[in-house]
Amino acid sequence: MHANYLEFNKLPYQSTNCMAKFKNGKSSVLIIYTGGTIGMVQRPSTGTLAPVKFEHILDEVPELNKFNLNIKTVVLSPVIDSSNMNPSNWINIARTIKKHYSDFDGFVILHGTDTMAYTASALSYMFENLYKSIILTGSQLPIGTLRTDGKENLITSVEIAAAQKNGKSRVPEVCIYFDFKLYRGNRTVKRDSELFSAFHSVNYPELAVAGVDINYSNKFIYHSENKGILKVNTNFDDNVVILKMFPGINKSVFNSILNIPGLKGVVLETFGSGNVPSSRWLINCIKRAIKKGILILNITQCEGGRVVMGQYETSAELLKTGVVSGKDMTSEAAVTKLMFLLGQGLNYDEVKMYLNKSLRGEISE
Ligand code: ASP
Repeated sequence: MHANYLEFNKLPYQSTNCMAKFKNGKSSVLIIYTGGTIGMVQRPSTGTLAPVKFEHILDEVPELNKFNLNIKTVVLSPVIDSSNMNPSNWINIARTIKKHYSDFDGFVILHGTDTMAYTASALSYMFENLYKSIILTGSQLPIGTLRTDGKENLITSVEIAAAQKNGKSRVPEVCIYFDFKLYRGNRTVKRDSELFSAFHSVNYPELAVAGVDINYSNKFIYHSENKGILKVNTNFDDNVVILKMFPGINKSVFNSILNIPGLKGVVLETFGSGNVPSSRWLINCIKRAIKKGILILNITQCEGGRVVMGQYETSAELLKTGVVSGKDMTSEAAVTKLMFLLGQGLNYDEVKMYLNKSLRGEISE
């Protein structure tokens, strides 16, 4: 087995001859490198971390050659810090997977940790009828450093992406693997910028835990209901905003945000179980926005728990005005879902209905 290196040089993405089918009967995994700390080095001139070429990463992980797998790699060029990710990058990644979907049993995406949860959420919505694993991973320390967490993250992600049971992928969904845990991607949040346990998923259990064995929690793994062929939806509408409530938020600030020209959707990050200040001006401002056709999705600022509008007086008015409950979704899952649904050419009521429903297990109904 060779971890073959195939570089994509041109934007938006370029395919190479890795379409060749494997005839040796081994499982196959495509590693897609997008950037992030895992492949960064320190620039001597400035001391800042910047992405390097992917061949250096594979040199650092010769262990991959010990797997009884066909592994190929693709580099999305230019490699980026994930702070620079945007919907066109998500589309690139999705198209790359679609292009090579029938040739590989699973996919690993190497990605910066900063916006990994957004990309994982966006990808989960984009793929319909997914029946193979897409595992995002990265690291807190570059892979060339002695104490790197990148090696374990990469090696186990590859193993999970290749894992099959009765000839089918064990985890046929978009996941994040980090620090010995496999999470549903659209339930995950980056919670720490230093710890190796950078991610968590408070409202949904881990899909697998890697110890001596990799223990899969089969009952929590998502299986696409429709068995049709893979479909990738690639439209997003970025006329959205996340508006975080805080005590003392000022009327003219709040009002100007809801009056941004072209605005179509707001993720309103509220207190506790979905509460906002009772000020009349605030409720009126929300009413006017909804009347104009702006969708307002209520997401809690808390790490866990869910929005229950009407539980307190301070959220009952929101319910009456037509604010949509985001229930237990993360902000990452919510804003990408809003962008995705608004990009699908649906009408207001349809977007509202889907926001409240599970598309890929991102919300508990
Ligand atoms: N800034 C980096 C990124 O998200 C951080 C990381 O990879 O951990 O690309």
